[in-house]
Amino acid sequence: MTRDRSAAVLKLLRPSVQALPLYDPGADPEQVAQHCAGQPLLKLSNNENPLGVAPAALAVLRDYRPELLGLYPDPACLALRHALGERLDTHPSQLIIGNGSENLLELLCLAFLDPGDRVVTQSPCFGLHEIFPLMMAAQVTKVAPHPDFSCNLGAWRSALAGPSKMLLISNPSNPLGTIFDQQALAQLIGAAASDTLLVIDEAYYEYACADPDFPEVLGLLRAQHRPWIVLRTFSKAYGLAGLRVGYGIASDASLVAALDRVRTPYNINQLAQQAALAALGDQQHVARSRAFAAQVRAPMIEALGAAGFQVAPSRTHFLFIDTGVDAQEVNRRLLAQAMIIKAWREPGYETCIRMTLAQPDDNARFLAGLQQAVQALR
Ligand SMILES: *Cc1c(COP(=O)(O)O)cnc(C)c1O
Repeated sequence: MTRDRSAAVLKLLRPSVQALPLYDPGADPEQVAQHCAGQPLLKLSNNENPLGVAPAALAVLRDYRPELLGLYPDPACLALRHALGERLDTHPSQLIIGNGSENLLELLCLAFLDPGDRVVTQSPCFGLHEIFPLMMAAQVTKVAPHPDFSCNLGAWRSALAGPSKMLLISNPSNPLGTIFDQQALAQLIGAAASDTLLVIDEAYYEYACADPDFPEVLGLLRAQHRPWIVLRTFSKAYGLAGLRVGYGIASDASLVAALDRVRTPYNINQLAQQAALAALGDQQHVARSRAFAAQVRAPMIEALGAAGFQVAPSRTHFLFIDTGVDAQEVNRRLLAQAMIIKAWREPGYETCIRMTLAQPDDNARFLAGLQQAVQALR
C-alpha cells in the first residue's frame, strides 16, 4: 500500500526534483545530545553566531505585543527596506527582503532559470547554490580553486566563455571562508557575458568588509550596465538565524519586481521584520562579532597548521579543514564526543570538514577531538 503510493508519487514527480540532491543541515543537536549524555554539546556545523542574537533585537522581541500576531505582516517590509535603503544609500525599490537569503536564492532560480540554462558557480559550494538551479533543471558548472584554495581565474574564464544565464558566487566563500578580492572579482565580472545575471551572495559580508582588499561590491556593480543582485543576511553577524531574514540589493527596481512575482506575499513574519530592523541599528553587535571572529581565527588556523592540517585562509568565523582522511568517519568520531561539524560530500573534498569558530576553550576541545579522530583513522 505505502509502496504503491510512493511509486505513484515518483511517477508524478518532475524528473529534476526526483534526482535532486538533499541539503545537508548537519546532525540533529537533540539526537546528538541524547546519545552523548553528560558531554556538553558543541554545535559547530551551521555558522551560527557564537555571540548570539543582537541585544537590540532581543529587547524588541521581549517587548513584542503577542496580540499583533493576529494580523498579517507588512507584505512589502517597508520599514525594514527604508532603514536598509538609508544605510546602503539605495532606493527601497531596489531592495527585497527574503525569508532568509536562501529564500532569495530560490526566488532568483524560480524567476530566471529555464530547463537547460547554465549556472556557473564555485566548488566547493554552498549546497543551495547547486540545489536550487538543479530544481529548475538548469545545468550547473562548478569552478574549483587552485589546490591552495586561491582563485583559479583561468578556470573561471573558460567556464564563463560559453553562454550562461547566471553567475552565482558566495563572497566570502561558504565553505572556504576565503574571498575574491577587488581585483579578482572585477576580473570575474569582466569574464561574464553582459547578459549573464550576476548574483553575489555576501552572507558573511560583515566579517570581511573591514579588510582593505575586500571588494566594494556595490561600487563595482553599479558601474556595470547589466542586471545584478547582492544578497546579505541577518542570520550570521546579526545572530538572527532562527528568525529567517535576508535581503537583496538589486541593480534596479525591475529585478525586484520580477522576484516579487514569484514571492509568497507575506514571506517575512512580523516578529522577524521588527527584530531585523532593531538588529540593523545594533552595529555594535556586528562589530563585536567581527572582532571576535578575527581574534579566535588566527590562533586556531595556526594551531591546525602546526598539527599538520591544511586550512583555507578564512576571513570569516568558520574554517574549512582538510583532515586527510574520510570526513564522514571524522564526523562520526566527533559526534560520539558531542561535537557537530559539517563533513563535506562534494567530489574532490571528501576529506574536508567545515567548523564554526567558537569560544577558545571550545575550539581547543574541537582540535583535540579532531587530532584524536584523525590519528585513529590514519
Ligand atoms: C548561511 C548562508 C546563507 C543563508 O542565509 P539565510 O539568510 O539564513 O537563509 C546563504 N548563503 C550562504 C553562502 C550562507 O552561508
